[in-house]
Amino acid sequence: MASLRTESVLSVNHWNDRLFSFRTTRDPSFRFESGHFVMLGMRLSGKPLMRAFSIASPHYADELEFFSIKVPDGPLTSQLQHIVPGQDIVVSNKPVGTLVIRDLRPGRTLYLFATGTGLAPFLSIVQDPETYEKFENVVVAHGVRTVGELAYSNFLGKELPEHPYLGELVAGRLHYYPTVTREAFRNTGRLTGLVQSGKLAADLDLPALDPRLDRAMICGSAAMLRDMSGVLDDLGFEISPGTGELGDYVIERAFAEK
Ligand SMILES: Cc1cc2nc3c(=O)[nH]c(=O)nc-3n(C[C@H](O)[C@H](O)[C@H](O)COP(=O)(O)OP(=O)(O)OC[C@H]3O[C@@H](n4cnc5c(N)ncnc54)[C@H](O)[C@@H]3O)c2cc1C
Repeated sequence: MASLRTESVLSVNHWNDRLFSFRTTRDPSFRFESGHFVMLGMRLSGKPLMRAFSIASPHYADELEFFSIKVPDGPLTSQLQHIVPGQDIVVSNKPVGTLVIRDLRPGRTLYLFATGTGLAPFLSIVQDPETYEKFENVVVAHGVRTVGELAYSNFLGKELPEHPYLGELVAGRLHYYPTVTREAFRNTGRLTGLVQSGKLAADLDLPALDPRLDRAMICGSAAMLRDMSGVLDDLGFEISPGTGELGDYVIERAFAEK
């Protein structure tokens, strides 16, 4: 097993009764690639209880950020949701994952398809200047059930385009598309349907998804990965096998195989 580091919680933000984010200290020797996940947990009765968590902060930040579900009877998150600044958490020192841009063929528009906390790795990716060196346009399509679950909407829609350093790269090229399935909202419906119907690209004033030009990354539940992959496969996109061979889209294989 990878060795564990202890980090200290710096801040906690409760979005609602199902979702929260937190920031921790970061050991300067801890390195990761945008899109990676790490094993994170707490020492409960002396033993570490660990779960996989995508890293939401950019690779160059001094702090680590995570975006978490609160599962009421979940062994870890039933406890983790009560963390407060100053408390310790444990993080493995081996960030890994297949949700990485280097496994994508060059392209024009990068589509980041997320549901729920699947947004986490994309928060890191959209803050990485390399993303904008490789792609003209970056679309963050975030599907949730209710408007209250649209965590980070102000950050993606407003703060990032106005960011003192990243704003110039991001403004006009990062397209944030939140969509809600169970309430009225400006965009509604599942990501799969919005791609199949062409509504997503049309709403953003972008050409229809084209495997010759566009690339995608998918993060969500195992069912969402399966359904969204099916939609892209039908359009002629080729998945990266996740072994360093390039593809038109990538998924987090640890999630899909869970
Ligand atoms: C590669 C990878 C990356 C992950 N990244 C994140 C992340 O960034 N943020 C995060 O909150 N979780 C993430 N998870 C899930 C995470 O590992 C835990 O399952 C989750 O934190 C709940 O832990 P638990 O011990 O409380 O409950 P568990 O026993 O692990 O899960 C209980 C049940 O809760 C549901 N569940 C678990 N996680 C989620 C979720 N994120 N959204 C909706 N339902 C869920 C599932 O039905 C699961 O069977 C990731 C999982 C994998 C494999």
